[in-house]
Amino acid sequence: MIDVASHKIRLLEQSPAVEGQFSHFVESTDWHAMTQSHQEKTEQDVLRALSKSKLNVEDFAALISPAAEPYLLEMAAKSEQLTLQRFGKTLSLFAPLYLSNTCANECTYCGFSMSNAIKRLTLNESQVEKEIAAIKDKGFDHILLVTGETNKVSMPYFERMLPLIKSHFSQLSMEVQPLNSEEYKRLQTIGLDGVLVYQETYRRKTYLEHHLRGNKSNFNYRLDAPDRIGQAGIHKIGLGVLLGLEDWRTDSVMMAHHLRHLQKRYWRSRFSVAFPRIRPCEGGIVPKSIITDRQLVQLIAAWRLFDWDVEMSLSTRESPEFRHHAVRMGFTTMSAESKTQPGGYADDAQAALEQFEISDERPVAEIIAMIRSQGREVVWKNWDPALSHV
Ligand code: SF4
Repeated sequence: MIDVASHKIRLLEQSPAVEGQFSHFVESTDWHAMTQSHQEKTEQDVLRALSKSKLNVEDFAALISPAAEPYLLEMAAKSEQLTLQRFGKTLSLFAPLYLSNTCANECTYCGFSMSNAIKRLTLNESQVEKEIAAIKDKGFDHILLVTGETNKVSMPYFERMLPLIKSHFSQLSMEVQPLNSEEYKRLQTIGLDGVLVYQETYRRKTYLEHHLRGNKSNFNYRLDAPDRIGQAGIHKIGLGVLLGLEDWRTDSVMMAHHLRHLQKRYWRSRFSVAFPRIRPCEGGIVPKSIITDRQLVQLIAAWRLFDWDVEMSLSTRESPEFRHHAVRMGFTTMSAESKTQPGGYADDAQAALEQFEISDERPVAEIIAMIRSQGREVVWKNWDPALSHV
C-alpha cells in the first residue's frame, strides 16, 4: 500500500482553466455546496424526478441521494424499460487490449505506477499480432486499447499500431494518455473511433493527493481532454470516475454536468459512461468512500433515467453475481474474459504485470450464456465507420 502522506507530492505547473471548456465550470463550482445539495434532497425531489421524462442534473442528484433508496426497485424497472426501448435486447461485447504497462506517472490506486517494482513490457508488432489472434479467436470485433502514460508510448507508437490493429476489428477505442486535438484528429484518420478519458475524481484537492507525479497530475489538462476529443470530431467519448476516491455522489453529479456540457457542444459525438470501483492491485489503496452493490445499482439506474441515449459499460471489475443481476438494468456494452496485462491473452502466465485484479474471470462462452439467460442477445459489431457518413 502506498502511504500518500509519506510521498513528496511534486506538482507540475497546472494548466489554467479554459473558458468554455469544462475546467472553467469545475473551477467556479463549490464542491462542499454540491455535496450539501444532494444530501438535502427530499422524497418530493425524488418523486418529481421519477415523474419527468427529461431530467436535469438536479433530478439526477435526487435519484442518487439517500432519499431515493426506498425507490430502488421502481428505478431499476424504469431503467430496464428505457434501455429496451432505446437499445433493444442487445448487449455488445468488447475486449481491452493492454499494449504497455510502462508508466511515468504515480497514481496511488494503480498497479502500473512508476514506483511499483513490476516487470514492464511494451508490445511490439509481433506480440500485438499474437494478442489480436487470441482476442479474435474469442469472437471479439470491438477492441479497447489501453496503455500506461509515457513518452515511449505516444503518437509515433500509436501511429504504428493503430492501422495494424484496426485492420482486424470494426471498432477501435483508446484509453491512453490525454492528447491534443490535432493528435486525436490524426488518429481518427488511421482508425480511431472512440476515446475514453476517466477523470478519476472531479475534486482537485483529492485528485492531487492520488496523482503524485507525472503528467497525469495536471488536473485541468485531463479535465479538458473530452473537450479536445469533441473538437477533433471523434465519434464516441467516454467518461468515468473511479468510485471510491471521493464522495461517489458528488463525483457522479459532476460527471452528469460534464456530460451535459459536452452534449451541448459536440452534438455529433456519442457518449458513454462507466462505473469502475477501486479494485485491489499491486500497491493499492483503501477506498475513502465505499459504494455498496445496492448503491451502485441505484447509480446505474439513475444514469439511465437521466440520459436515455448514453451508452453504459460494465467491466469485469465487478463480480459474476453483480454482473449477472445488473446485465438487464441499463448497460449497452460489457467486457468479458479481460486481461489487464500486456501479452495476457496469448500468454496468461503474466499475472504479475496486471493493472488490477479481475473479479469476473469467466470465459466468454459462459458470459454469453449468462447474457442469454437474462433475455439479451450478444452483438459483436454494433457500429460501422461507414454509418457515420450516412
Ligand atoms: S492509472 Fe494510468 S497513468 Fe496512473 S499509474 Fe496507472 S497506468 Fe499510469
